[in-house]
Amino acid sequence: MPRDQYTFADPTTLYPRIQPDRQHQPEPGLDAELTPRADLGEETYRGTGRLAGRKALITGADSGIGAATAIAFAREGADIAMSYLPEEEEDASRVRSLLRDAGATVLTFPGDLRDPAYCRELVQRTVEGLGGLDILVNNGGKQIFNEDLTTLPDEQFDDTLATNVGALFWITKAALPHLPAGATIINTTSVQAYKPSDILVDYATTKAAINAFTKALAQQLAPRGIRVNAVAPGPIWTPLQVTDGQPQEKIESFGAETPLGRAGQPAEIAPAFVFLASPESSYVLGETLNVNGGMPTP
Ligand code: NAD
Ligand code: MG
Repeated sequence: MPRDQYTFADPTTLYPRIQPDRQHQPEPGLDAELTPRADLGEETYRGTGRLAGRKALITGADSGIGAATAIAFAREGADIAMSYLPEEEEDASRVRSLLRDAGATVLTFPGDLRDPAYCRELVQRTVEGLGGLDILVNNGGKQIFNEDLTTLPDEQFDDTLATNVGALFWITKAALPHLPAGATIINTTSVQAYKPSDILVDYATTKAAINAFTKALAQQLAPRGIRVNAVAPGPIWTPLQVTDGQPQEKIESFGAETPLGRAGQPAEIAPAFVFLASPESSYVLGETLNVNGGMPTP
């Protein structure tokens, strides 16, 4: 029988210690051009009905962590609305086919998360198209390294804030009137929230903000029966890393600093989103679930 996410395995060898060649793609990058290819769980994720009948909106659903999450959600029985940038149509259409193969209704809404009007329309069209909304995954994000704050362009600072935090606010605000009791919101933060790199000042700032947003809003929405949580990835092999998320000289050792000694794959993080989306995590609120290869976090 082929391996699935439940197959007993040694995590140190479950995936190879990749040493990717230097490679650069213009933002936002494509999974289709990542070498080696990332594992989104296409061949391995096995659903067991944990999200049957649920209606999910996922930003950054075309590639990386968002795509692996979309595949897992669809195989668990959810219908999915996908947000991504128009330049990512190639990745998005491949993921859309995988979701449809799993029996999901799929809506695709290309657009720019920096635009509040797009964020509001995304929610409105999702609610209309899926007949409601009960899982929101705020996952789209921007990471561009910069070695010297005096050269960090104001525009990059604003774009990183708008993509990672602004969209989170605009989408969640628009979604709230539609979310029933039992709905779940999951935000993608990062190990950078606790262990900020010297070259990711703007990005790390947004990820700390996402943790605070998550914990504050979780308390506000608890009485309504809406749970808010976050997933904090460590180094996961995705297009974000080769679109100036890291300097080229760091790509070949990407993930080697973790106790497991290797980068994570998107397929290894999707089950964390499934857990937080499903009712099995009913008493888990305001939590940040770290999926980072073993790096200690507060
Ligand atoms: P990714 O490049 O596959 O996904 C990021 C997505 O964000 C893109 O696919 C794109 O659709 C979306 N996006 C970016 N700017 C946008 C804009 N202006 N408008 C609309 N969409 C936009 O990379 P990923 O690593 O899967 O990233 C997903 C999330 O995981 C991000 O929030 C990232 O910060 C976070 N994260 C990643 C890692 C990692 O090591 N890969 C670690 C910690 C956190
Ligand atoms: Mg992408």
